Amino acid sequence: MITGRYARQTMFEGIGCEGAERIHAARVSIIGMGALGSVAAAQLARAGVGFLRIVDRDFVELGNLHRQALYTEENAGKQLPKAIAACGRLAAINSEIVIEPVVADFCRANAEEFVRDVDLILDGTDNFETRFLLNEICRKCGKPWIYGGAIGATGATMNILQDGGPCLRCMMPVLPMPGEYPTCATEGILGMASSIVASAQAVEALKIIVGSPNISRSFLRFDLWDNEVMRLDMVRDPDCAVCGKGEYELPPQGLTEGEEEERTIPLCADGTFQVSPKQRARIDLAAFAVRLEEIGMVSHNGYLLRFDNEEASFSLFDDGRAIIRDAKDAAKARSIYAEYIGL
Ligand SMILES: [Zn+2]
Repeated sequence: MITGRYARQTMFEGIGCEGAERIHAARVSIIGMGALGSVAAAQLARAGVGFLRIVDRDFVELGNLHRQALYTEENAGKQLPKAIAACGRLAAINSEIVIEPVVADFCRANAEEFVRDVDLILDGTDNFETRFLLNEICRKCGKPWIYGGAIGATGATMNILQDGGPCLRCMMPVLPMPGEYPTCATEGILGMASSIVASAQAVEALKIIVGSPNISRSFLRFDLWDNEVMRLDMVRDPDCAVCGKGEYELPPQGLTEGEEEERTIPLCADGTFQVSPKQRARIDLAAFAVRLEEIGMVSHNGYLLRFDNEEASFSLFDDGRAIIRDAKDAAKARSIYAEYIGL
């Protein structure tokens, strides 16, 4: 007779008593505690995953609450770091597991320490530059990770298993230019879409942990508004820079913590920072302005785009450099840059 708090989960034939033990012994890192990470973390905590490391650089704001299910108005009022707010809530959900909150910008200087001592990593990030880094570090450390992304009413997820299957770079060889891809800040997002992606990531995490034969090997994409679901079988690219050749698009050593700081320069006005892109960029400001018009005041003159709304205020040059105004600190300036400009 199976009893106790996990009884219903353990009774499920895909898990069983052996699976339950593996879940309690499992160590998982979640990179990014926004719409995906916060939902997946709650599910894995409830499922009894023994160790959860939650990494996030940002703090809770009122505009997060419609989709980031762990957080409260009180968290937003206090501007608590997401990792700290999440840790408190997760500990209240399950006091039997170990939760390690990390308030940090996941970057090349620190990425490996968050990845090497866990069994599995969940992608809760909001930009491809960080995902490229995650893809490379997980490849280097031989750790499976679960890609997730959501925008509008659409979502996508895929397991990167390090077992001969494709990696992220097999599917996306080149890092998109800043502004090339829409972001949640420019297109909006429904919490239901991100919650489904997070649930899919969490269930795949359980399958990987228990060693299920049912682990998904395809790219799943859905659109909740247009009622579409798509499964694509992806193949490994033998010429892939990361899993094929072991070469990286980003500099081999990447940006150190110091260089990350250098990328963001405080300007003389209080709360104003210049943020540079990590790679050379050329942005079509007119096209980008059209995308931003929906969500704030935009003007541009061919050389410079100015944007203002309640959450963000910045000027963007066509080389990808941005002047971010009214940011709390340098990390927040980089966060606004990632959210609105897309890198
Ligand atoms: Zn690859």
